Amino acid sequence: MPLRKMDVVVVGAGFSGLYLLHKLRSAGFSVTVFEKADQLGGTWHWNRYPGARCDIPSLQYSYQFDEDLQQDWNWTEKYSAQPEILEYLNHVADRFDLKKDIEFNTEVVAAKFNEEKSLWQIKTSKEELESKFCVMATGCLSAPNTPDFEGMKDYEGQLLHTGKWPQRPVDFTDETVAIIGTGSSSIQAIPVIAEQAKHLYVFQRTANYSIPSNNGPMNTQEEADVKSRYPEFRKENWDNGFGIAGLEIEALAVEAGEEERKEKFNVHWENEGLGFLGTYADLMLDKDANEMAAVFVREKIREKVKDPEIAELLRPEYTIGCKRLCVDSGYFEAFNRDNVTLIDLNTNPIARITPEGLVAGKEEYSLDSLILATGFDAMTGAVTRIDIRGRGGVSLKDQWKNGAKSYLGLGISNFPNLFTVTGPGSPSVLSNMVPSLELHVEWISNCIEWMRENKKSVIESTKTVEDEWMILVNEVADQTVYKSCKSWYNGSNIDEKAKEFLPFIGVPPYTEKITQVAEQNYQGFVFDKTN
Ligand code: FAD
Ligand code: NAP
Repeated sequence: MPLRKMDVVVVGAGFSGLYLLHKLRSAGFSVTVFEKADQLGGTWHWNRYPGARCDIPSLQYSYQFDEDLQQDWNWTEKYSAQPEILEYLNHVADRFDLKKDIEFNTEVVAAKFNEEKSLWQIKTSKEELESKFCVMATGCLSAPNTPDFEGMKDYEGQLLHTGKWPQRPVDFTDETVAIIGTGSSSIQAIPVIAEQAKHLYVFQRTANYSIPSNNGPMNTQEEADVKSRYPEFRKENWDNGFGIAGLEIEALAVEAGEEERKEKFNVHWENEGLGFLGTYADLMLDKDANEMAAVFVREKIREKVKDPEIAELLRPEYTIGCKRLCVDSGYFEAFNRDNVTLIDLNTNPIARITPEGLVAGKEEYSLDSLILATGFDAMTGAVTRIDIRGRGGVSLKDQWKNGAKSYLGLGISNFPNLFTVTGPGSPSVLSNMVPSLELHVEWISNCIEWMRENKKSVIESTKTVEDEWMILVNEVADQTVYKSCKSWYNGSNIDEKAKEFLPFIGVPPYTEKITQVAEQNYQGFVFDKTN
């Protein structure tokens, strides 16, 4: 039987895959989206843990490609919770009739470029097929990191991962629960689980900075104001460094007086969430300025946590913001509860998981539920978990073994007609991701359309341009404090991964660069190369 053929295969049905489908289909291409989950939503399908919500205000963390959509949809809270974001994505899919071209429960397991035919041979969990282009909309934070603790497979209680949360309701009432990790996911989950569980043990390796969300019902006046000038509002946000509203672009912490600085930090602490890092323009550029912000947050933690010993354990030491900043609703306050115990893994390392619970330090903990909030193989994991073979049969996983190189986070040498959405070397995780991925979807779609118009059949990046680009990515990061700690931004959370800084810092110069590249007929890419 002849194989199915299509113009474009899109892998993943989250924010990126849905918009790609709409955009490419509207341009007249035949497109199929393959999604391994049984439904759409990506991040907002998989991360159903209690307390999951966005930490960029929903008026910003939403699509802007359709003015009617952004006018019609009403968010109920400043930072919407996971169910509402999932409902929004389903609304978008219904509104643009997307579901008919998404094949669920279908994992893309391999993709091989056939150089003779200039086609991708795609292998899914169900069939083999061919497509001219392949777009990885597989997500930056979608490949869960599951540490291999000794004895894990013997654990007999309920084992959960925040990034792979079950769809059934999970009730912790009367349960003894442990959570390992204190990143954004855990920081959101802990206050909610603490309200339910009989006892919650929190196993912390690195204390983390978190800013209060001050979440609440949508301010309808603010919503009306934004909606009255939505495109301008979006543009204003996009024009600053991280694509998020409310960031200072000029005033410097090191030049401010102590009182003035404290007052300004306070205003941002109370109102801005992630935007706390934008209180001053030099917080992520200058170590001294950064330490001023860090001291302010450490003091706030000390004020919130009643027991001074626990407050000390919760005190982060590293450069604020160099691990992804967290935003919470009652995180530090949860440690004032009698049913929450903090365990420092540095002095009490996990020795093993037992059938009943776990052993850390000298203590054995008997558990009903064990939650891994241990993050993701970020930015590259979802792509390298697929067996992708390019020119000469080269494997992408091997090519990226010593570092993931990409031209603009969009194209990879040796992998013609393969695009990544928010790939390594793009602002992605250091920006508001929805507008970032919209930018990529539009760029990719326009590029494929341009190729059709200009009768080009193959596009690829070269090693030279991607080497140069990744040098620039690192040179920009070197001017900041981002490299000063271990984080998933630089692969430090995954042992076998190259330790390199992957996101490009700076939305405006990046946007200008990829726009120029497109205007100059995709300068830096080569077309229709023959062997
Ligand atoms: P995803 O939503 O990750 O979707 C990728 C899809 O690809 C998934 O459905 C996955 O199942 C599918 N897939 C992967 N591999 C395969 C395969 N081989 N075959 C078939 N299907 C495959 N960003 C922000 O800017 N602001 C926030 O507030 C924010 N909050 C977040 C909260 C959480 C809990 C997490 C984990 C991330 C958050 N992010 C946030 C980042 C978030 O991932 C992005 O904002 C956005 O949702 C990414 O959309 P995406 O479509 O690119 O990827
Ligand atoms: P994460 O930030 O990577 O945090 C993982 C946590 O697990 C860290 O505390 C880490 O400690 C710990 N850990 C990992 N391996 C461990 C091990 N073997 N033993 C003990 N501890 C271990 O992951 P995440 O919390 O899932 O968040 C990932 C990203 O998703 C966030 O940074 C953010 O971008 C996004 N997110 C956003 C929100 C939101 O508020 N909207 C919510 C959730 C996630 P170390 O720090 O010591 O490595």
